[in-house]
Amino acid sequence: MKTLRLILGDQLNAKHSWFHKNDKNIIYVLAEMRQETDYVKHHIQKVVAFFLSMRNFYSTILALGHQAVYFQITDPDNPQDLEKIIAACIQKYDIKKFEYLLPDEYRLDEQLKTICANLKIASGVFDTEHFYTTRHELSDFFEGKKLLLMENFYRTMRKKHHLLMDGSTPVGNQWNFDADNRKKYKGEVPVPSEKNFHKNASEVASQIQEAGIITFGNITETDFSWPTSREECLEVLDYFCRNLLKHFGDYEDAMHTDEKFLFHSRLSFAMNSKMLSPKEVLETVIAFYHKNESEISISQVEGFVRQILGWREYIRGIYWKEMPNYAQLNALENHNKLPNFFWTGKTKMNCMSHAINQSLDEAYAHHIQRLMVIGNFTLLTQINPDEVDAWYLGVYIDAIEWVEMPNTRGMSQYADGGIIATKPYVSSGSYINKMSNNCAKCHYNVKEKFGDKACPFNTLYWNFLDEKKEYFKGNQRMGMMLNLLKKMDPEELYKIKVKANAIIEDMDSL
Ligand code: SF4
Repeated sequence: MKTLRLILGDQLNAKHSWFHKNDKNIIYVLAEMRQETDYVKHHIQKVVAFFLSMRNFYSTILALGHQAVYFQITDPDNPQDLEKIIAACIQKYDIKKFEYLLPDEYRLDEQLKTICANLKIASGVFDTEHFYTTRHELSDFFEGKKLLLMENFYRTMRKKHHLLMDGSTPVGNQWNFDADNRKKYKGEVPVPSEKNFHKNASEVASQIQEAGIITFGNITETDFSWPTSREECLEVLDYFCRNLLKHFGDYEDAMHTDEKFLFHSRLSFAMNSKMLSPKEVLETVIAFYHKNESEISISQVEGFVRQILGWREYIRGIYWKEMPNYAQLNALENHNKLPNFFWTGKTKMNCMSHAINQSLDEAYAHHIQRLMVIGNFTLLTQINPDEVDAWYLGVYIDAIEWVEMPNTRGMSQYADGGIIATKPYVSSGSYINKMSNNCAKCHYNVKEKFGDKACPFNTLYWNFLDEKKEYFKGNQRMGMMLNLLKKMDPEELYKIKVKANAIIEDMDSL
């Protein structure tokens, strides 16, 4: 039966069983479309990376002998809309059955269900064969439980998939080496330069411009660094194992003004586009660790496994458990607007300047920059989580809603009222000072709480606690901080609040 099979831009899994054998009755379709470029304003590097990866994937499946059709963004016959593209293909190729892979975004899942319901031909849906868990495995795991603790889920996944296990005992006799993953980086060991593919992306960047797509962020078109084929992704994985893994865990949470990426793998785009599977990434990393145990400690590897087997799968499960309501949550009722410097990088706060400019230049920042600098600032300034979500979804190369939204709206902004995090991830400047060298060269003074030169994080932190103290009064994990707030000299608190309100009124003057 003549069948049309859809491959979305984040479904570039060449190992999928769909491609195990050739069938001349099957036509695959891939499409660059305005529907996907315009639902949020994206970073230019993100659009370039997805388009280049999709084009490479198209060439790969053609080379494997499959039949495929590809719509480039500037093709005159590109309808730019999923439903119309499917309809056009069905008509042109006299298709009798339509098949697709389970999308990871709720938005596309709903759209494809509606499209199929309206089709006059049969349809079918297949798993992407990418994740360790099914969409609803986490919901089943936590059924009847009030607390959805990631650690419990992670340990069960370790046992179930027998990763870093010695029989029923975790390798190293410890499940979690989080406490060893918090070193400040002081240049003790050199950071190898990042893996860069130095590609020329001028043609696709021009097409994006010609199509009139509004993007933001910066790009050096003739020196594009991101991997956009499975072979390049495998090179990044190999580079991580050989050069970065040895110190990954130690400096996982560190930030440094001279080292944008430190020892982070930057494999998130490779995985979220499905060019690499989490299984092959973890198996490769763990095998490399076992071959090099004399040089690599378990705490480096466990930290990496926890991120992928634990955190990544957990976040996906939360997304499918809580959507679509999750996208509306604003438990702390924050309604302020994002300041303009999120788009320009122009601020005197050294930590924010580095984290935002890096995001604008590279379409990437690591999790602590996202959580404890940028996210910390937006939560302390009580910015509407819709605006925060849209910025994170647009700016980061790896940001696809299933992974971005629970991380941003939940973990970072506490807008889900504690579904993911047991307390809000807020801190004064002291945490940033402890984990980075930003404060030493900052216009502001990390030791001061109010006054013109006071670190804004300090002022905003105490103001946030005071403003939200009613909301958090029953939260045991907030007890110590709320007690300190209670003991604060009222006059000092008054000055802090006056200053904090002035900051919130005019964030772009920071
Ligand atoms: Fe950031 Fe405050 Fe440190 Fe400046 S002093 S870098 S604003 S934490």
